Amino acid sequence: MIRAYKFLMRPTVRQEQALGEMLRDHCSLYNGALQERRDAWRHVSQTTVRYGMQSTQLKEIRAFDPERQGRWSFSSQQATLRRLDKAFAAFFRRVTSGETPGYPRFRSVSWFDTVDFPKDGDGCRWNSTPHDPVTRVRLQGVGHVRVNQHRPVAGHIKTVSVKREGRKWFVVLTAEQDQPEPLPATSSVVGIDLGIANFLADSNGDFVPSPRHGRRAAEKLEAAQQARSRFPRRRAKDRTANHQRAVEKVAQLHGKVRRQRLDHAHKTALGLVRAHDVIAHEDLKIRNMSRAPAPKPDPDQAGLFLPNGAAAKAGLNRSINDAGWGVFLTILYAKAESAGREVIAVDPRNTSRTCPECGHTAKENRPAQEKFHCVSCGHTAHADTVGAINVLRAGLVRRDANPA
Ligand SMILES: [Zn+2]
Repeated sequence: MIRAYKFLMRPTVRQEQALGEMLRDHCSLYNGALQERRDAWRHVSQTTVRYGMQSTQLKEIRAFDPERQGRWSFSSQQATLRRLDKAFAAFFRRVTSGETPGYPRFRSVSWFDTVDFPKDGDGCRWNSTPHDPVTRVRLQGVGHVRVNQHRPVAGHIKTVSVKREGRKWFVVLTAEQDQPEPLPATSSVVGIDLGIANFLADSNGDFVPSPRHGRRAAEKLEAAQQARSRFPRRRAKDRTANHQRAVEKVAQLHGKVRRQRLDHAHKTALGLVRAHDVIAHEDLKIRNMSRAPAPKPDPDQAGLFLPNGAAAKAGLNRSINDAGWGVFLTILYAKAESAGREVIAVDPRNTSRTCPECGHTAKENRPAQEKFHCVSCGHTAHADTVGAINVLRAGLVRRDANPA
């Protein structure tokens, strides 16, 4: 089992400068490799440049530019080229399947925030000063950087990544761990209904509210975005100090919202996995719900697009993304797997309009967002609780049909 750890780094002023240069140079390598692929595609009759060719050129690139490219880890540069290769693979996959994806884009330094080291010990070393009470990570071209290691790392370190979020620097580790002992059986089963007003309602009538602090942070984020939008768009190097501060504020708040959402998801998932052997949830097809409508090309003007309702849909998308269901379910599945629990996705149709008492299904059973009132037998309950009970029943039916 692979586990990820993320720790704040505390670089010195000098190291911080070197980290910035490391991102900048990896970014320019990425853009250079992208340029090469674009040129080949456009001018050499749709020839495809592949990762293998670009990777073998790395040696020459490093020798040609020892100050900038020769300074960094060969393996991290390969990882950057591989990332571009993945972007292209996704692009071609979508072209083949008849979609019209955007061509992979150049990244500005402010959008290029991660450098990966595919193997601990190759261009990087976790816990490089084991006798020192302070944990450090050694990064080629940067030095031994202090790490705020707030929890122990278990298992064998596989990969190390450096990530910039706003003004902060993080080190992200993945570690291979032995399968932990499954949790003892509780013989409890539960259904959950994911929503917006409540993050989660369960079939026992309990609720997990949406992370309020996340919403407060979202309001602050909106204000910060407005403040930023008062400045004309400029490259990082041309921004005024006030503009730069506004940009950093937005990045900092984004990071905060993301961390809070993750924390909430981890706690909620852990609570469920500890208490129940089987957890059934709606198969939300979040991806489909939140996917932006396809752009409509304007037939009269090449290169321009007609309105497609994307703005109207953005509000709904935001609350879906805000609730972070996708993130939550991913975490729930991971925790359930390591605890030996079962998670079942069920078809969500009719789960909110079927009466759990008499089985009568009608949309009139749900007169309001939160209210369930059966028009046949008169049963009343919170609509989300009813949804969760129906999800549990459907999950158990599915489980009996295909026993694990
Ligand atoms: Zn009923």
